[in-house]
Amino acid sequence: MQPILLNDFKRQWSEIGDQVRSAVDLVGSSGWYVLGAQVAEFERELARFWGPDHAVGVGSGLDALEIGLRALGLRCGDRVLTTPLSAFATTMAIVRLGGVPVYCDTDANGLLDLDEAEAVLAAEPGIRFLLPVHLFGQCLDLDRLAALRDRFGLTVLEDCAQSIGAAWRGRPTGTVGRLAATSFYPTKNLGAMGDGGAVLTGDAELAAQVRRLRDYGQSAKYQHDEIGWNSRLDELQAAILRAALLPRLGEWTRRRQQIAAAYTAGMRHSGVRLLRPVAGSASCEHLFPVTVAATAREQFEAHLKARGIATGRHYPILIPDQAAMVGVAFVRHGDLGVARELAAGEVSLPIHPQLTSEEVERVITAVNEWPGH
Ligand SMILES: *Cc1c(COP(=O)(O)O)cnc(C)c1O
Repeated sequence: MQPILLNDFKRQWSEIGDQVRSAVDLVGSSGWYVLGAQVAEFERELARFWGPDHAVGVGSGLDALEIGLRALGLRCGDRVLTTPLSAFATTMAIVRLGGVPVYCDTDANGLLDLDEAEAVLAAEPGIRFLLPVHLFGQCLDLDRLAALRDRFGLTVLEDCAQSIGAAWRGRPTGTVGRLAATSFYPTKNLGAMGDGGAVLTGDAELAAQVRRLRDYGQSAKYQHDEIGWNSRLDELQAAILRAALLPRLGEWTRRRQQIAAAYTAGMRHSGVRLLRPVAGSASCEHLFPVTVAATAREQFEAHLKARGIATGRHYPILIPDQAAMVGVAFVRHGDLGVARELAAGEVSLPIHPQLTSEEVERVITAVNEWPGH
């Protein structure tokens, strides 16, 4: 019996290898390796696929967040309302710029609790920035995000590293904020064969500023108007994304959605709770999170492992509890009890597009036959 992996890059390679080889050939023979035609074309194609007018390729999702926050004017000491349950990069981007993360609790699905966020914003008028994360592929309520933005005059940057292809009532993720940041880390829904990321925006001036910031702050060759980054999506990754990955993203997302629907219909276990999107949120099903009792988590994972099924944890330690945050300025509202319980009991099940229907059934059966509770 073949193991069921969280991501199956070897299977993916057998599907895309020929196109990737052609893409490498194309870049090699072009003689142009950084910021050339492939990046420019990929940016246009990504923007067309997603919705906003402009996409700017950068070196990683972290860089997209960090450069995006800088472009939006984040300065040392500025407070940024964000979530305690995400990839550490979400907070790292804030802290690296000298910003102060302000955490409030998540809802039962693990996304920023917008009621709590509203209460915090009302109580703390100094918060100018909001950095929400569309976690697991689920899209936060964009109407409410827009209402919070307008009521409190917030500058919003949406972390869309896990939500490419997701939408709220037909409106694409990342379109309430002035900027959206995404990642092409290999495990993401649009994963490159290495690091990469992009900033998306409808604002041409902001897009131009991000283009300068990713390239040493240059406004023209050897003319540096500000201190920037070296964070350029390279031609090889852009060519691979264009030739082999972006054209498959729609179909792969539909496959993820089919698998999620099969899991949702098939999994019946009183000790396993599925974290499913609320009505209105069309998820791109980046991850398939479930929760079990914290005391039963290791046993649940071991049960699945014995049946050849890999699992993950997203995320086992809340960001403000990380060792790296000791001595870093941040604000925590409340005890973050909901997020903390998720961190203690969450298990992610395999949901990649290369799963066969038989494997999907194997996962369902294994969950339903778990003797624990
Ligand atoms: C992956 C991820 C990032 C960071 O992206 P990198 O490309 O790995 O730097 C940021 N935020 C979230 C929610 C992510 O999942």
